[in-house]
Amino acid sequence: MNVEKTGGRPFGSGRCSSLSGSPGAAPVVHRMVEAMSQLREEKAQLQEELVALRERLAVRDSEQQATSTQLQNQVEHLKEKLISQAQEVSRLRSELGGTDLEKHRDLLMVENERLRQEMRRCEAELQELRAKPAAPCAGCEHSQESAQLRDRLSQLQLEVAENKGLLSELNLEVQQKTDRLAEVELRLKDCLAEKAQEEERLSRRLRDSHETIASLRAQSPPIKYVIKTVEVESSKTKQALSESQARNQHLQEQVAMQRQVLKEMEQQLQSSHQLTAQLRAQIAMYESELERAHGQMLEEMQSLEEDKNRAIEEAFARAQVEMKAVHENLAGVRTNLLTLQPALRTLTNDYNGLKRQVRGFPLLLQEALKSVKAEIGQAIEEVNSNNQELLRKYRRELQLRKKCHNELVRLKGNIRVIARVRPVTKEDGEGPEATNAVTFDPDDDSIIHLLHKGKPVSFELDKVFSSQASQQDVFQEVQALITSCIDGFNVCIFAYGQTGAGKTYTMEGTPENPGINQRALRLLFSEVQEKASDWEYTITVSAAEIYNEVLRDLLGQEPQEKLEIRLCPDGSGQLYVPGLTEFQVQSVEDINKVFEFGHTNRTTEFTNLNEHSSRSHALLIVTVRGVDCSTGLRTTGKLNLVDLAGSERVGKSGAEGSRLREAQHINKSLSALGDVIAALRSRQGHVPFRNSKLTYLLQDSLSGDSKTLMVVQVSPVEKNTSETLYSLKFAERVRSVELGPGSRRTELGSWSSQEHLEWEPACQTSQPSARAHSAPGSGTTSRPGSIRRKLQPSGKSRPLPV
Ligand code: ADP
Ligand code: MG
Repeated sequence: MNVEKTGGRPFGSGRCSSLSGSPGAAPVVHRMVEAMSQLREEKAQLQEELVALRERLAVRDSEQQATSTQLQNQVEHLKEKLISQAQEVSRLRSELGGTDLEKHRDLLMVENERLRQEMRRCEAELQELRAKPAAPCAGCEHSQESAQLRDRLSQLQLEVAENKGLLSELNLEVQQKTDRLAEVELRLKDCLAEKAQEEERLSRRLRDSHETIASLRAQSPPIKYVIKTVEVESSKTKQALSESQARNQHLQEQVAMQRQVLKEMEQQLQSSHQLTAQLRAQIAMYESELERAHGQMLEEMQSLEEDKNRAIEEAFARAQVEMKAVHENLAGVRTNLLTLQPALRTLTNDYNGLKRQVRGFPLLLQEALKSVKAEIGQAIEEVNSNNQELLRKYRRELQLRKKCHNELVRLKGNIRVIARVRPVTKEDGEGPEATNAVTFDPDDDSIIHLLHKGKPVSFELDKVFSSQASQQDVFQEVQALITSCIDGFNVCIFAYGQTGAGKTYTMEGTPENPGINQRALRLLFSEVQEKASDWEYTITVSAAEIYNEVLRDLLGQEPQEKLEIRLCPDGSGQLYVPGLTEFQVQSVEDINKVFEFGHTNRTTEFTNLNEHSSRSHALLIVTVRGVDCSTGLRTTGKLNLVDLAGSERVGKSGAEGSRLREAQHINKSLSALGDVIAALRSRQGHVPFRNSKLTYLLQDSLSGDSKTLMVVQVSPVEKNTSETLYSLKFAERVRSVELGPGSRRTELGSWSSQEHLEWEPACQTSQPSARAHSAPGSGTTSRPGSIRRKLQPSGKSRPLPV
């Protein structure tokens, strides 16, 4: 009986506890579902808000579009106004035409240009505004932030969707477990009901058995039998009981197992609750983030909105200001137009007046032309008579000029002596013999110093050219002489000096650097060209040489033929050389041909030209003949360019035979030249022209108004100092024969050829031999070391004998 009682109680209490757990799971799931639906609602709300915001943005965009179109309309309007103004201005411009109006027009054009620029600016701003909605705040930090927020939002939305999926899966699981629980509970209920029925039946049978036993005990013997039967039956019942107990045990085990399962399920439910709570927390976090992002986005939108509004307002204000300025300009233009109108009226009046004047102009012009013609005729007559007068005066002036020139030449002294020192050359060699012995005075270009045998000697000439002087420098000095040839003067230029001192270089020069000869002819050509309008000139050239007192034609067909100097048969007293070839030259090419021809003649004639040329005098005779086209006046000028034979004193070195003869001839002719020049310079009565072929040939060119220049060539090196000293003494001696103002010397000792040879330099005093020009007490020196001899007057100068 005890067993029955204890077995029944635990079963009953176990059933109660298992039944109280199953209704608790349903509310949790319910709450989760509720939370889910709440989240869904919130999401829908957010989406709605987003849509609303988008709509607002669209509205703003359309508003902005409207503003911009409005602004564009305004700009269009302004453009139209401008165009109309420009048309009006152009109309006015076409109507008007005066100078005052042009100023106004210019002003209007400037204003117009300015207005155009403003309009262009407005258009640019408009373009900017248009560009803004298409790319809101492109590149600004707000837009970047909002894009980030949008990205974050979409991320969060994705996460929410994921969580929702997870939640729904959990819900499904919970549902399944709840169903299984309900099933297990149902089965447990059935088992319990079955067990209760069995117990009921068994207890009823037990009670029946007890009652039967008791009745049987009361009935004694039969009862014993009955008891025995009952006992037999009771063992059967006991077996049935133990069976039912075993079954009960099995059921209890099953219930415990079910409880275990329930417990596990409860734990699972618990964890799913926790998961749900976590998810909720996450969702709450996402929501707050969403909220924040939303807030930021709203702020962003707000600031963008404000920016946009501000920009629109600013643009609008600017447009208004510009509009105002345009209006003001318009007003200015209008007032300008008003002021222009009276000017236009006066201009029209002026124009009409001018028109009337122009109509009457041809008549006036004819009259004026008539009177002017008469005036011009009169003026021409006057000019003609003036011209005649001027021509007469010109001719007189020409005569006067020539007279003056003659006088000037007479006063200045028509013989000038200059020196030119050649540079030291390779041919001079090296060593003490080749050292420089010549120096110059830096302050006076007419002084030259020579160191001879250790003693300094100085000379004064008309000019001294140092070794640095160029061909052009030298030519500059002689230029005036050459041009005077065109005016009909005779000119002689001599190059004097020892062989190798640079005579030929100075006269002929080199092809690259020509000397006086070629430069003189070039100058003559250019001068003649300049005068070509009034004068007709012909320039002819002859070339001759004098060797051993024999004159030869260098341009003739037979150069070896001896030429004679004769008096002109016309009784003019002029000399001429029959058979001397004359070439007319017109250009530099002609000169070159002539020179070349002369050179070839000389080369073929003499095998050693250098030696020969140093022992002969070479003459280039240029004759310039001119005719004055207006007067018929004729002039003839002769330019004699002479490269003299070497002045070195060969006789002293004991030369013999032909060499001695050559030297004697050279010395004779050079002495004669010295004599003639001295005689001329001192205005001597008798000039010994006939003492040599050279002086005789040049008689015309040395006498009268003619001019002579002696270029004394000097070698600078030590070994030549003796000859240099000799040359410089010769030069100074020629020069020192000077004419004092109003005083003339009639007599002067001549230089014999012997003297030319034997004249030794007086180095220390630098005083030339007094024998040559003995004029007692007349010697004066202008500066130390120089010789200057004043010559005494001797009465009138005679015309030079022929
Ligand atoms: P000359 O005719 O007196 O015998 P050259 O004219 O033949 O002497 O000159 C002798 C040398 O010196 C030539 O080689 C010449 O080129 C040279 N010479 C002379 N004078 C000059 C100068 N001023 N500059 C350069 N070289 C010169
Ligand atoms: Mg020479």
